[in-house]
Amino acid sequence: MNHDESRSLYDRALSVIPGGVNSSVRATRPYPFFVERGDGAHVVDADGNRYLDYAMGYGPLLYGHDMPDPVRSAVQSHASEGPMYGAPTEVEVEHAEFVARHVPSVEMIRFVNSGTEATVSAVRLARGYTGRDKIVVMQGGYHGAQESTLVEGEPGDVHPSTSGIPESFAEQTIPVPFNDFETINQVFEAHGEDIAAVLTEPILGNNGIVLPVDGYLEHLRDVTEEHGSLLVFDEVITGFRVGGLQCAQGKFGVTPDVTTFGKIIGGGFPVGAVGGKSEILEQFSPSGPVFQSGTFSGHPVTMAAGYEYLKFAAENDVYEHVNRLGEKLRRGITDIVEDQAPSYTVVGTDSMFKTIFTRGGPPDLDGACEAGCEQRPDCPRYEHCPKDASDIADAETERWERIFWQEMKERGIFLTANQFESQFVSYAHTDEDIEETLEAYKEVL
Ligand code: PMP
Repeated sequence: MNHDESRSLYDRALSVIPGGVNSSVRATRPYPFFVERGDGAHVVDADGNRYLDYAMGYGPLLYGHDMPDPVRSAVQSHASEGPMYGAPTEVEVEHAEFVARHVPSVEMIRFVNSGTEATVSAVRLARGYTGRDKIVVMQGGYHGAQESTLVEGEPGDVHPSTSGIPESFAEQTIPVPFNDFETINQVFEAHGEDIAAVLTEPILGNNGIVLPVDGYLEHLRDVTEEHGSLLVFDEVITGFRVGGLQCAQGKFGVTPDVTTFGKIIGGGFPVGAVGGKSEILEQFSPSGPVFQSGTFSGHPVTMAAGYEYLKFAAENDVYEHVNRLGEKLRRGITDIVEDQAPSYTVVGTDSMFKTIFTRGGPPDLDGACEAGCEQRPDCPRYEHCPKDASDIADAETERWERIFWQEMKERGIFLTANQFESQFVSYAHTDEDIEETLEAYKEVL
């Protein structure tokens, strides 16, 4: 493959954009390919190379790069009639009504402009509603570029995970291991009265894809209720992807007090949202005392795209298709891994998938996790499924990024370059695409 044009665009970008990119995950080594256009399940780069895309914009593109007709025409008409006003419009009400009808926890919803803005607002809301300051998060969880959640360490020894954040922010945040009943109990015993919320992804989607073990989300529900804290699910990735229109909370049957959304809910345009019980959501200004505001919030083009996106999913076989192909891909990769890299692990559910490069692991680790086991204790390899961030901490990140990711890319398969970030199957992917992908996995692994 020739990458001359991408290389020269990157050179130009480096002099005017820090690191040459506007979001750090895009800075793939030695330089990123610059995309010229999308085409169904593919992207075409500035040198004319075509890639089968599983990054899918890091999650929003449920339909791939072609918008279904109703989405395209709604986007075009709203763009040409505005594009925005600083006054409310009907389409944001329709979108809010749709989400409230389908997602168990949502009675009301406030739309914002990114997943980060959603989690920032949700944390402020939880603090305002409870009058408490501390929040509990999961080690290896991700909630965007926000001060309260960019932390690392153990309960009692927590620090900001990036420069630029005062130590005092980290003092209010308690990171605990996902799926660990014992630690969350201890944290609530010690700080229960001061905890505003437990904020967690129902599935860790930025850390290898770690599924909740049986009973864990239920336990979080119980322990928060018992102590008067809120349970906040960050469904920025899982929302309208895992569990269909009911989201992961519907799939797992656990209803949080507050849910954050992003990605799919905006149909490919910048978006975030905070939903939940009316009693809590009405604490947001102007109905309540917790300030929340945004020039672009509820942008008509985004609202139209998101609403039509979800309506299309309600009326077509979208989730059947993406989940069936997701399962086919996970099973296919599992067979290859068993044969060629038996200490690696295939993870995921619905249309999310990843192969984690862990060697080592438990001493008797001799096979991949059975694809689709969804952390069921009856899976023969249940013990070897990652349960928290520490289980995948020794993954071969360099081998993934420098060898595997590059080799797949050179074969025309675009995966997420970070070893721990999820990948996605879209409605535009076909059975033939899956077979082509499995051939590439077989060669490269
Ligand atoms: N929460 C989760 C679970 C995410 O995966 C992300 C982004 N990948 C965010 C929040 C932040 O969203 P955004 O990048 O739109 O700010």
